[in-house]
Amino acid sequence: MSNLVQIGKKPRSHQRSGGQLGRPRFLPTTREEMQARGWDELDILIVSGDAYVDHPAFGPILVARFLEGRGYRVGVIAQPRWDSPADIARMGRPRLFVGVSAGNLDSMLNKLTAQKKVRSEDQYSPGGRANLRPNRATIVYSNLCRQAFPGVPIVLGGIEASLRRIAHYDYWSDQVRRSILLDAKADLLVFGMGERPAWEIARRLDAGEKVEALTDVRGTAHVKKNRRAWEPIAADPSRFVADRKAVVLPSYEEVSKDKEAFARMSRAFQYETNPHNGRPILQPHGDEAVYFNSPALPLSEEEMDGLYDLPFARAPHPSYANEGIPAFETVKHSIVTMRGCFGGCTFCSITEHEGRVIQSRSEGSVLREVRELSRSAGFSGVLTDLGGPTANMYKMTCKDERTETACRRLSCVHPGICENLVTDHGPLLSLMRAVRNEKGIKRVFIASGVRYDLADRSPEFVAELARHHTGGQLSVAPEHNNPRVLEKMKKPGIETYERFAQAFCQASEKAGKEQYLVPYFITGHPGSTLRDTVDLALYLKRNNMRPRQVQDFIPTPMAVATTMFYTGLDPLTNEPVYTARDLREKRMMKALVFYWDPQHWPLARQALIEAGRRDLIGHGPNALIPFEGSADRVHAAAKGRPRNGGPPRSRDTGGPRPPRGGGRGPR
Ligand code: SF4
Repeated sequence: MSNLVQIGKKPRSHQRSGGQLGRPRFLPTTREEMQARGWDELDILIVSGDAYVDHPAFGPILVARFLEGRGYRVGVIAQPRWDSPADIARMGRPRLFVGVSAGNLDSMLNKLTAQKKVRSEDQYSPGGRANLRPNRATIVYSNLCRQAFPGVPIVLGGIEASLRRIAHYDYWSDQVRRSILLDAKADLLVFGMGERPAWEIARRLDAGEKVEALTDVRGTAHVKKNRRAWEPIAADPSRFVADRKAVVLPSYEEVSKDKEAFARMSRAFQYETNPHNGRPILQPHGDEAVYFNSPALPLSEEEMDGLYDLPFARAPHPSYANEGIPAFETVKHSIVTMRGCFGGCTFCSITEHEGRVIQSRSEGSVLREVRELSRSAGFSGVLTDLGGPTANMYKMTCKDERTETACRRLSCVHPGICENLVTDHGPLLSLMRAVRNEKGIKRVFIASGVRYDLADRSPEFVAELARHHTGGQLSVAPEHNNPRVLEKMKKPGIETYERFAQAFCQASEKAGKEQYLVPYFITGHPGSTLRDTVDLALYLKRNNMRPRQVQDFIPTPMAVATTMFYTGLDPLTNEPVYTARDLREKRMMKALVFYWDPQHWPLARQALIEAGRRDLIGHGPNALIPFEGSADRVHAAAKGRPRNGGPPRSRDTGGPRPPRGGGRGPR
């Protein structure tokens, strides 16, 4: 079955969803709302762990709206009760399938911090309330759907399913877990961005195919239930795949006992995530095996435009009338321009989920959304962000399609910017100018992270960023200063950051503006020792930097850095990597970076003693923190505004930032 149907084309059965005129603004969530549309049954039910916000930044809703746009009758059940299947069953049995997603974030990451403490807030829930979704929501919802609708195909999707699709290390239980598809006992798993696979599944089920026959949809996985079905593939992968050999990963049993096998699995998997040449993958689990087709192909510009032109209400469902949804408040006046990332940072899962090929909208499509937003109630003329996973990868591509299709590199910018990468900021500059010149637009900020090694190549971009698009502070993510640690992260050297900081400073001065960089750092990343963190703190002090955006490294499922954390090996080189696994050591590392904040001094002192750097405790220009005692109180009273950090934030959980582009992954 071809995967190349253009998703921007007019849907075959659009009339079934009712006309545009007088149509309710939201997808139905109850039988009454179904009846208001004149529907007696749904074709597809989407179950999500997030509150229902009808906005393209909410991944499950993006796919639901897309399927509705193809003519299917789609309903949404957001954050159902999980003590019985009754809530999920409230709109009746859907005709084609149920799509299950934990929401925009992995449910465990959403609930627990790097220190494995329960977060007090869920940004994707009404009022920021915690406990409105279960742990491992994909598995729980899938079980409920099976009870509610026996025989209806269950299709998993979203970040949690995508990033737990092969055997993986789960930080929160400190265990290697099986593919989530087996634990959820679902029929199919959609990985990556779900529009293309979800539509192919819907079309083929609608045409009368059985779900068991859908074994060749790109971007999906299914289970081969007995050895007869998969052992011949494992024995000779080339015989069973028409055009490309399948890659057989070490089995779940092997990787859960043998860390070297786990690292081998992680490496082999990474090389098959490129949609243009990623091969199918098979991973045995006992008598069963999970089979992954090649990744879905990226969307064209026309297809991206079609997606973002869908009639989103850009608002939370009215049933949340009295409670705001924090993640929506962050994105409601922002515009997504692109998806994907070719950076390949090892601690981040965006490449594994959104793909390494940049998929951008046209300038016209972005402007249409800007105009619509400027007509909406409550919009003051200030766009809070224009970007995506990265602010300045808009329309950047490989120099030609043939080179890109053949390329097996994991990053286009590490260890240096590839000579084939077109780093032209021209299309982005044109977009920035067009948006800020739109009628009704007073300010346009760029809040997505700037990739400074790319920005380094465009003084014009840095000048316009500083003059027009920075509201006093700009987020950038040097992450660390140590070259060995940055190498493990696959990030550019600190000197690149310093060059950008200088250029930004000069551009700000030229624009007559006093503005600051807000640098992000990660502590406890694999490769980083306590001594490396002392060096980082000294670097920060030397440069008068008092960062407030410090992330204690969280090993999220399937990231390369997570493999380093779990196995103690760099899967890309097979070399040993030091990793802080003890929670106290991780806390000490974070305390060092807050060298300027008295509340962290007691732990930072212990860190310095354990690192053999007592010499940095005391007074004078060389000390990092003062002696214990009266100095703590004096400094506590004197604590003021940081020189190049932002204003103090009322709360910083150190947790994930809200999503962009239909499902931003963990940082
Ligand atoms: S050749 Fe270079 S620019 Fe092209 S895809 Fe490969 S790494 Fe990226």
